[in-house]
Amino acid sequence: MPSGEIVTLPYPMRLLCLCLAAFFLVHLAVGLVVLAIQTAAVRMTERATPRSAARWLLALRLFPLACSLFVVATLCVPSYLWLEPEATAEEVGFVCLLSALLAVAVCGVSIARGLRAGVQSVCYINRCQRAGIRTRVLEDPSPAWVIEGGSLMLAGIMHPRIFIPRKVMSSLSADQLGAALRHEGAHRVSRDNLKRLLILLAPGIFPFCRGFETLERHWARFTEWAADDRAVDGDTRRSLSLAAALVRVARLGPASYPSPAIGSLLDPGRDLAARVDRLLHLSPPARKSERRMPVAAAAAALAVTGLLVVALQPATFYSVHRLLEHLIH
Ligand SMILES: [Zn+2]
Repeated sequence: MPSGEIVTLPYPMRLLCLCLAAFFLVHLAVGLVVLAIQTAAVRMTERATPRSAARWLLALRLFPLACSLFVVATLCVPSYLWLEPEATAEEVGFVCLLSALLAVAVCGVSIARGLRAGVQSVCYINRCQRAGIRTRVLEDPSPAWVIEGGSLMLAGIMHPRIFIPRKVMSSLSADQLGAALRHEGAHRVSRDNLKRLLILLAPGIFPFCRGFETLERHWARFTEWAADDRAVDGDTRRSLSLAAALVRVARLGPASYPSPAIGSLLDPGRDLAARVDRLLHLSPPARKSERRMPVAAAAAALAVTGLLVVALQPATFYSVHRLLEHLIH
């Protein structure tokens, strides 16, 4: 056994080890590029509408994961299965083994984080539905639950529900409550809790260093702004009502936040002053850059198709197999 090779693995285990190692290395490389451009990306998205900005930042946050899965599924696995002789056991080198272990660690940490948030969310919903009173508030067509503590929240991933603390109900006027419910309704339509969960599940750069906090923080900010904009829909009266609702809820004092997969009217650490300021200086809804989204999506689909056509060539698989041989030994 050469000095760099430390363990002997059978054919399927070598494939698994290679896939994990390739996943980690591609994720690390693409992740470092994303980290290098994230500040510039945030600066660029400041010029777009909050909704577009949130979409671009979410895409950028999930890009390293998507790239790694793409490379493993379309290049590593087929080239290994096609070109690697089904020999008996073969040695695996230190770099490959370490990369595979790091892949298990980064994915394990992120999956544990996502599962924890998901379980906390389900437990919170069950607890609130048992203790709360199901009702319909104002003209909102969806049911809501009036609860005793907590904050005004939208909880749930696939079928999000609104939970309203009794003290919030009694503190807000009908207009303010309506604006707050429209804000949560906007999060429901955008499936923001599902996006929160996807971000929690997306691996960090290293097991205990996520590295994407800037992107995640600005995504959360734009998501709140987008929900504010959708709730207000260019109406000055609604805008003032929502601003007043935010201030009144903030004055009720800090509330507990049961799970990072749950969105609340006032998320902890979010910039309340900036939100209120935007609402008090309402500008007409900018729909221009929204129209660019289908064009951007079509361009992205075209780029992925082109990439697939280039990637799925025999020469590519031979090159990938040579790379994998270097990686494994
Ligand atoms: Zn919100």
